[in-house]
Amino acid sequence: APSDRRDREVSGATIIAQALKTQDVKYMFGIVGIPVTEIAIAAQQLGIRYVGMRNEQAACYAASAVGYLTGRPGVCLVVSGPGLIHALGGMANANMNCWPLIVIGGSSERSQETMGAFQEFPQVEACRLYSKFSARPSSMEAIPAVIEKAVRSSIYGRPGACYVDIPADFVNLQVDVNSVKYVECCMPPPVSMAETSAVRVAASVLRNAKQPLLIIGKGAAYAHAEEGIRTLVEQCQLPFLPTPMGKGVLPDNHPNCVGAARSRALQFADVIVLFGARLNWILHFGLPPRFQPDVKFIQVDICAEELGNNVRPAVTLLGDINAVTKQLLEQFDKTPWQYPLESKWWKTLREKMKSNEAASKELASQKSLPMNYYTVFYHVQEQLPKDCIVVSEGANTMDIGRTVMQNYLPRHRLDAGTFGTMGVGLGFAIAAAIVAKDRNPGKRVICVEGDSAFGFSGMEVETICRYNLPIVLLVVNNNGIYQGFDSAAWKEMLKFGDATATSPPMCLLPNSHYEQVMIAFGGKGYFVQTPKELQESLRQSLADTTKPSLINIMIEPQATRKVQDFHWLTRSNM
Ligand code: ADP
Ligand code: MG
Repeated sequence: APSDRRDREVSGATIIAQALKTQDVKYMFGIVGIPVTEIAIAAQQLGIRYVGMRNEQAACYAASAVGYLTGRPGVCLVVSGPGLIHALGGMANANMNCWPLIVIGGSSERSQETMGAFQEFPQVEACRLYSKFSARPSSMEAIPAVIEKAVRSSIYGRPGACYVDIPADFVNLQVDVNSVKYVECCMPPPVSMAETSAVRVAASVLRNAKQPLLIIGKGAAYAHAEEGIRTLVEQCQLPFLPTPMGKGVLPDNHPNCVGAARSRALQFADVIVLFGARLNWILHFGLPPRFQPDVKFIQVDICAEELGNNVRPAVTLLGDINAVTKQLLEQFDKTPWQYPLESKWWKTLREKMKSNEAASKELASQKSLPMNYYTVFYHVQEQLPKDCIVVSEGANTMDIGRTVMQNYLPRHRLDAGTFGTMGVGLGFAIAAAIVAKDRNPGKRVICVEGDSAFGFSGMEVETICRYNLPIVLLVVNNNGIYQGFDSAAWKEMLKFGDATATSPPMCLLPNSHYEQVMIAFGGKGYFVQTPKELQESLRQSLADTTKPSLINIMIEPQATRKVQDFHWLTRSNM
């Protein structure tokens, strides 16, 4: 009878969902359509959370944030051709950030390959540049093994993105249940330790440092190395500097954090330990004039190919940051050592921090309207719950916001990252809110966006409202990219002809009411122009744990950063 047959047979969609579940995948983001709808339904039936988004790019950003936040990859499920191509931005971003991610793409039917099938595209090849692993199972029976390999590859060694291609004809094809063997859940990544001799050398280089510095990167955050690094910092009394997403591994208000003297610390340190931070543009390649020409780097990384990039390190510690930190601590347990707090180096750093903080406070206290960035962020910082997750993107919005808004917990900051990607914010915020709902109910997600950055994925506000995620979205609105103009100047420009001929490319429509986007879908929207309005709307938004809100904060269109010793992060966009 047909019902018997249905009991004995299983569809490709179910095999994929079951294989993902067996690998302990808990979250799937995507947009359904031919041929992947059944996969989403099957996944949901097996208890995987499915989040339907409005653009594959945002879905892919969301899935990758799950990987960073939980250490287990999220899945991005997309349709063939354009769907997969939209997801490439998210794959590239995840891979550049060294975050685990699984992308599952439907693709055209095998029997129509090379014939100009619906949405046909060489997907496995296309994904190769954006991933560590890209493959199509050779048969239905091979699906579980390929999914296991993708999940394992995404978290072993340097984490990254992996792609699994599923031809349309696989999705609804039925095979005998008994012909499918599910591969057991892959083991957690093996923990590697550095050579003992190298650890000894590293400890001795550090002991002999005159002006030491620890740099804490997002690799340390991903590795959950907070406990060991805190012990090292406090036991040896070392100054530390977090990278943008390394913020929170140790709290920003820790007495040894020299974030407010960043340029000074980098420029004059003679020994620098890098805990999961690459010497790329974010760290000015480790080169002069931002660093001493003979600075000794002690590089801790899980990826051997990273060691020695741009600078010849004094010591390389190849291994897991958490394990290597413990190895270093053993050395200092054997022969205790403390860097003197009354050193000239600490004094220099402390003085620089004081003067930098005073300069920011001075800007923040300016009463003129429209507000400047510093005023906005000081008022936001005053009300931010200490355990909230801060998502941030934009040019000045992100750069200035990072210096004023504090992080107190590891993996609580998500931003444009290594790739400087704009448009990540809403996807990241959605992922963070969904993970928080499961793991820490009540934890808030605050998403601080420039007006330009917001535009890239603005329609995800509908997703936020549909799932009723109580995200607080702040749009810091200067009417433009980098800088904008006010309505009067805008009207003036239009007098001279069509806007495509007369308006500067950085311009966005002045006084745009982005808060109406939130109102349109049932959330709360605020248009604010004064510190008082900002305080009040933020207070209301944070008090309401049941609804998302968007606060559209009008600032001086020509506002910029305070004068810098160096133009840092000049390569960040928007
Ligand atoms: P940031 O942007 O904060 O400077 P990067 O993304 O440049 O950080 O660097 C993160 C580094 O951390 C990468 O080189 C990656 O290989 C490394 N990494 C990731 N996980 C671990 C781990 N568990 N142990 C050691 N290194 C790790
Ligand atoms: Mg702007």
